[in-house]
Amino acid sequence: PSTPTADGKKVLLAAPRGYCAGVDRAVDAVEKALDLYGAPVYVRKEIVHNKFVVETLSARGAVFVNETDEVPEGARVVFSAHGVSPAVHAQAAARNLATIDATCPLVTKVHKEAVRFAAADYDILLIGHEGHEEVEGTQGEAPNHIQVVNGPEDVAKLEVRDSDRLIWLSQTTLSVDETMETVHLLRERFPNLQDPPSDDICYATQNRQAAVKTLGPRCDVVIVVGSGNSSNSVRLVEVALEYGAGAAYRVDKADEIDPAWIEDAQTIGLTSGASVPEILVRDVLQVLAERGYTDVETIRTATENIAFSLPKNLRGDLKSAG
Ligand code: SF4
Repeated sequence: PSTPTADGKKVLLAAPRGYCAGVDRAVDAVEKALDLYGAPVYVRKEIVHNKFVVETLSARGAVFVNETDEVPEGARVVFSAHGVSPAVHAQAAARNLATIDATCPLVTKVHKEAVRFAAADYDILLIGHEGHEEVEGTQGEAPNHIQVVNGPEDVAKLEVRDSDRLIWLSQTTLSVDETMETVHLLRERFPNLQDPPSDDICYATQNRQAAVKTLGPRCDVVIVVGSGNSSNSVRLVEVALEYGAGAAYRVDKADEIDPAWIEDAQTIGLTSGASVPEILVRDVLQVLAERGYTDVETIRTATENIAFSLPKNLRGDLKSAG
């Protein structure tokens, strides 16, 4: 239970927040690979979009590269949680790389949907951010069938072959509300547009946004811990503002908090993106406590108990190593 302070300063701590099952598994995969095979272990792209995680793993001997051609022939490479296109798998095979695929199973699910509907000759409208690694990976499954829709502004200019064979899919880390707005506009243009077989925006993204929607209206300021290239973290800032927070800021670390942001704040909301280790939230709580925000109340809107097992070949090697 929270203990009110005399001046009423308060922190509302969102739950769920931080690591999702896909991030937990991907980071664990790199750590286990380092333990088992020793450094260096190459990782294509940031394993998850968080600066602190990447720096911590680099210090342990992970070597982050942009493309597989930077990995020495025959070495071991981990693919990030965001997934890769079949072309990247082919490039890795051509260079004889040992791969550990840490693609989140919920991203793989979207890849499979893309493959399935492309095989049925559908046009696929992939709602997502052009250039984001996840979108590139999904698009690569069926480049001739997929068009990326960045948001409502793209709807008017789309051209499709057959509006009766049309489905939308999405990136896993979008704003639920904005995506629904885009879908609404798409359906106005294409009434027979099909919905994905199941939600593509993942449970973790949805839950973190729902928590912020609940606490946002009660907060003068919301602080989101997360990196600038983390889609779901950036969305949390937008959602906080849309749902009534007086102001919202994203920080990678506690020392980025500008004291001016919270000068007049009575209630501060705090959450973190799906790629953010809890220690970074603890650091923010510490900084806030030093400024008199010692009353912390957790606002829980969902309980998560999902976990994914490690990539199969890594699991096998760990087992053989005893
Ligand atoms: Fe998987 Fe969702 Fe986490 Fe992305 S945010 S890694 S899709 S669980």
